[in-house]
This record gives sequence, structure tokens and C-alpha cells, in this order.
Amino acid sequence: MDIQLSERQLQVQGVAREFAESVLAPAAQRWDVEGGFPRENLAEAAKRGLTAIAVSKALGGLEAGSLAYSLAVTEMAKACASSTVALCVNNMVAEVVEAFGTPEQRELHVPKLCNFEHVVGAFALSEPGAGSDPGGMRTKAIKTDKGWLINGSKLWITSGTDAGLFIVWAKTSDAPGARGISTFLVPGDTPGVQPGKPEHKMGLHGSTTTALDFTDVEVGDEALLGETDKGFRAAMMALDGGRIGIASQALGVGLAALDLAVAYVREHADLARSQAVQWRLADIATDLEAGRLLALQAAWRKENKMQFSREASMAKLFCSEKSVQACNRALEVIGEFGNDAAAKVEQLFRDVRVTMIYEGTSEVQRIVISRDIARRFGEQA
Ligand SMILES: Cc1cc2nc3c(=O)[nH]c(=O)nc-3n(C[C@H](O)[C@H](O)[C@H](O)COP(=O)(O)OP(=O)(O)OC[C@H]3O[C@@H](n4cnc5c(N)ncnc54)[C@H](O)[C@@H]3O)c2cc1C
Repeated sequence: MDIQLSERQLQVQGVAREFAESVLAPAAQRWDVEGGFPRENLAEAAKRGLTAIAVSKALGGLEAGSLAYSLAVTEMAKACASSTVALCVNNMVAEVVEAFGTPEQRELHVPKLCNFEHVVGAFALSEPGAGSDPGGMRTKAIKTDKGWLINGSKLWITSGTDAGLFIVWAKTSDAPGARGISTFLVPGDTPGVQPGKPEHKMGLHGSTTTALDFTDVEVGDEALLGETDKGFRAAMMALDGGRIGIASQALGVGLAALDLAVAYVREHADLARSQAVQWRLADIATDLEAGRLLALQAAWRKENKMQFSREASMAKLFCSEKSVQACNRALEVIGEFGNDAAAKVEQLFRDVRVTMIYEGTSEVQRIVISRDIARRFGEQA
């Protein structure tokens, strides 16, 4: 792996840092208290191209690649994990439409995902009883003369309240499990699409997560993304790329916790002299550096068109678990008398926990990694 960062990658990282510091950070605590959908933040992100970092320029993206994407997500998540997850999903949706869409689908939707016309894209895969195992989904799409009729319910959909475009997975045949699933592009204002109320969550209050009902939703043949009955592959490919984003998001939150702990210790000479405190900081920094390298490795492999599923899962597993631990350790260092710093780390701790759950729980990442180890046993990496 060669991760000497290019001027372009550093420039995109710099744009994300400026956006994080000037737009996201000043309002992050307000979003945590008041909650809601981060519309203003997403509009500002779109002005800077952060809605579609790896998408081609011809379709309105930055065409800066997966490494730049990972770097940018980490910068944004240092300031506000909530807006960052909405942006991660939007980037993922734009990449999936670019990868699997017909020229007409690409031209119709991708520029609108880049320039805020769709406001944001959402990824509607999970259902009650079909989270870790999407093959168990019950949402159905039936072929009609005019196109497709979709009925069913999704759950936990990020940005479900405001998304202008949903990528929706539905069963299109009676084949068991993951076979017989197809992918559809469904605009948010299609009659019969009904988001529920935002869920009350432990963290990420500045991002909405909703159930999503489909009642006799009619879409044309042009809504089908990719081939009939072969949508599961698109979902898994999307999640492989998405996991680089979530690893990078978790890493950003962990780094923010480390920064707060270090700043606090520098102001308290007794803590700075304590070896127990010094070692906690050393452990956090070492874990996050290892996580950073795993995330960059997965992004580098994706960018260089190599297999990266195992590496993306490793990065997601490691970065999410170590960043949760980093927030926990930072809380221990700052302690209950940390006041403002303690309050900020408490928010980070609540925000980061879900990175161990969405886009595949830690257990699911271990399944992906162990299957790939068995499959690639004996091969050169
Ligand atoms: C804030 C938030 C945002 C989300 N955003 C989206 C979104 O935008 N789009 C979307 O489609 N989904 C979204 N999700 C859903 C998320 O991807 C699922 O919650 C996740 O995949 C886990 O599914 P589940 O909740 O049904 O848990 P389950 O699958 O019921 O799992 C419960 C527990 O069992 C474990 N488990 C399950 N199967 C196995 C196994 N085979 N071996 C070992 N352990 C196992 C899991 O690791 C977990 O600990 C979101 C979730 C949250 C919390």
C-alpha cells in the first residue's frame, strides 16, 4: 500500500476541515440538545462538493477518490457525527446509482444528489426482523403493466424524514433468502411513501432515523436499478464501500475525544504527571492510529480496484470498537469534574456507539472477515 497523500487528497481534507470547523462544530451541541434533520449543514456541504466526493465530475461529484472520502469523513466527524452520517449515506447512494444505474438514471439522479436538489439520498434496506440478515426482508415489489407496485415497511432509515431519493430493496420473487431481491430508485414524494416519526436515539440527535412505509407505491420500469432479482449484490457492494465511511466516521469521533482529553490534561499538572493518565492517552492514540491505517488501507484498495470487502469490515470493526473505547477512556481521564470537556466527551460517547451497529454490527463484520479469510486462504494479499 502506498498512502503518500496527493495534493488533491490533502486539498479535499482541507475543505472538509474548514467546513467542520466553521459550519459543523459551532452548532454540534445545539443539534444534540434540539435534534432534527441537519438541512442547513447538508446545503453547506453540497456547496463544497462534500455530498459526492468519489463520484465523477461529469455527474457533479468531486471525483477525488475513496482515500479523499475517508479523510474528509474523519474531519467532519470530529466536529459533528450526526451531519456526517447523513453525508456518508448520501455519498454511498450517489456512488451506487453511478455504479449500477443506466445512463438515464445516472443523469436524472446523481447530479441532484450532489447539488442538494434531492436534499439527501437514503438507503432503505433494513426491516423489522431483517437487519443483520436482509435476506429475511418482506417488502415486495410486484410487476405490473406500468412498472412495479411496492408494499412493505423499512426500519431505521437515516434521513428518512427528508430524503428526496430512496434506494429501496424489495423481494421480486419467492426465491428464499437473499435471492430474488431487486433494487428500486424511489423519489421521496412518490404517493404511498410514508416516513414515520424520528426515532428517539441515544446519540446522533442531529440526524433523523425513521421507519418508512410503502403502501401501493407505483413506480415505472425506469425505477429498477440493475437487474431484476439481482439486487442483493448491489446492497452488499454498497455496504462494503459504506463501511469505509463508517470506520472513518468512528475514527473522527475517537480523535475528537482524544483531543479533548489531551487539552484537559495539559491544563491540569497533577494529571499530566500521572503515569496512569499518560498510559491511557498512549493507548487511545495507538488504537486510533492503527484504525486510521486500516481505514486508509481499505480506501486505497477500493480506489485501486482491488478486493476490499475484508479490509473494509476490518476497518469498520476496529475503528468503531476502538473509538467507543477511546471515548470511554477519555471520560475516565477527564472525570466527573471536567465540566465542559466532560459534557462534550459524553456526547461523543453517545454518538459513537451506533458505529458498532449500523452498516453491519461488529458480529456481522466478524462473519464477513472470517468467511473471506477462509475463501482467500493461501492467496497472497
Ligand atoms: C441510528 C441508526 C441508523 C440506521 N440507518 C440505517 C439506514 O439508513 N438504512 C438501513 O437500511 N438500515 C439502517 N440502520 C439499521 C442497521 O443497519 C441495523 O440496525 C443493523 O444492521 C442491525 O440489525 P438489527 O437492528 O435488526 O439487529 P439484529 O440483526 O436483530 O441483531 C441483534 C443482535 O444479534 C447479533 N447477530 C445477528 N445475527 C448474528 C449472527 N449471524 N451471528 C452473530 N450475531 C448475530 C447482532 O450483531 C446484534 O448484536 C440504522 C440503525 C441505526 C441504529
